[in-house]
Amino acid sequence: MADLGTDTNGNGKTAKRRHIVLTSHPSRFGSEAVPIRWGEADPMVRGPVVATVSDPQHRNVIGTHSGSYAVYRALAVASGVLSPDHRPDFTNTDPPATIGPYPSWGTPGKIVSLDPFGAMVGDVFQPLLAKGFDIRPTIAITNAHIQMPELMEEVRQGRIAEDGVIMKAGGNLVVTKAAIEPVWYLPGVADRLGITEEDLRHALFEQTGGMFPELVTRPDLQVFLPPIGGITVYMMGDLSAITDPDKPLAVRVHDECNGSDVFGSDICTCRPYLVHGIEACIQTAQAGGAGVIVYFRKEGRALGEVTKFLVYNARKRQTGGDRADAYFTRTECVAGVQDMRFQELMPDVLHWLGITRIDRFISMSDMKYNAVTRSGIEIVERVPIPDELIPADARVEMEAKKAAGYYSDKGALSPAELAQIQGREL
Ligand SMILES: [Zn+2]
Repeated sequence: MADLGTDTNGNGKTAKRRHIVLTSHPSRFGSEAVPIRWGEADPMVRGPVVATVSDPQHRNVIGTHSGSYAVYRALAVASGVLSPDHRPDFTNTDPPATIGPYPSWGTPGKIVSLDPFGAMVGDVFQPLLAKGFDIRPTIAITNAHIQMPELMEEVRQGRIAEDGVIMKAGGNLVVTKAAIEPVWYLPGVADRLGITEEDLRHALFEQTGGMFPELVTRPDLQVFLPPIGGITVYMMGDLSAITDPDKPLAVRVHDECNGSDVFGSDICTCRPYLVHGIEACIQTAQAGGAGVIVYFRKEGRALGEVTKFLVYNARKRQTGGDRADAYFTRTECVAGVQDMRFQELMPDVLHWLGITRIDRFISMSDMKYNAVTRSGIEIVERVPIPDELIPADARVEMEAKKAAGYYSDKGALSPAELAQIQGREL
């Protein structure tokens, strides 16, 4: 510990620097912590996730809240605009809809990358909150109306009915949505990836530039809040139908693609397929069931947008132009791998929702399909993207994926045909 005293920062504000508490040694850190028994069905037996830095003696995890946004919190504290001791006032923040608990929450190994109790900490950990533990939600749930131009056009053309409940007048889609921060149980994540916990901890420590020393010095801390993007779930229709085997359920698991999802870039099928997934969810909800869209912040197959744009250039400048038969090779040349999304962890959110069967799975990805079915969820029907929704320049991606094993009801092209599928020049 070192007392660095008081200092003046660049904007003239005085920031009182506190003692630095090294978390890599258990002396004070976590001395009054409640142990976490991951996979227990009773939340008070399982124990709370205490990840705030305000009470070092109560902390029982590695890392902290808000994923990558923890760095912005640090900037706010450093700039003197946020007190490091600020305690949130959670009045009226509780969920308008209840999710769970479900049997999957207490089945060891079923959920390893999020805290199933994350939305209900205010209820289930009340005795500990009353004792002053700073326990924060890692999941928040709210209601919303969403308006997307494509959906409004479908309503205008009469292809989606305005029922006044799920789809309100003018194309207002009623949803319940949940935001989820990642909470990793390290032994469970290692198990899911088929590696040792020690190898996982070492790689996480080294590849973050030594950002979290406790990964290697504190094997007693088994839960890690990684500094990565989270998940958003959009639910529509009768929420009780999500877990009702007698009612239909449509699901799309979508990985972020900012270029297409938000800006309408035509090199891939992401936004058209997302919209098609939402339409399937609306139809299923209007048939008495429910629809679920899961949106993961895994930009560019979790390679990040810088890598993605470099790959775009490499694809379009290669000899012979952007071709379906060289689609994955270009990604691998730049990134070293074709994909870093690790779909093995993806089904956790479906198990948090209590899903056991999906009637319509709006995805062609064999990796997503295999991960979901291997986790014990039945998939009845797989729904590919309709041909007319595929932008011309996205043919390269679509045919390459089908040739690599993505599901299609029409089959994949031959190698010779694949070489003929060309995209636009840069
Ligand atoms: Zn895309």
